Amino acid sequence: MKLSHSLFLGFVKLHILHHAGEEPVYGLWLIEELARHGYRLSPGTLYPILHSLKEENLLSVQSRVVEGKARKYYSLTAKGRSALAEGKAKALELVAEINE
Ligand SMILES: [Zn+2]
Repeated sequence: MKLSHSLFLGFVKLHILHHAGEEPVYGLWLIEELARHGYRLSPGTLYPILHSLKEENLLSVQSRVVEGKARKYYSLTAKGRSALAEGKAKALELVAEINE
């Protein structure tokens, strides 16, 4: 990420939780999705973020074989779902204040 890593880390994490809550997601898909929103992450940046979300028990991981290759899919846990709801409320509150 070119812009301040610490500033955008929370946005990126919320974004990941949002998509993992819709359907299981994998690393390359997330890199492309985040790039679509202007967040350019290398695998070397994304994977530690996914790992930390898993360590916090916000994401769970399943291995699936796709076209002969093992791929890790990340899904939102129950804890992740409440963290996302809280994060979403905080983001909306912040946007409202910034726009005042
Ligand atoms: Zn998105």
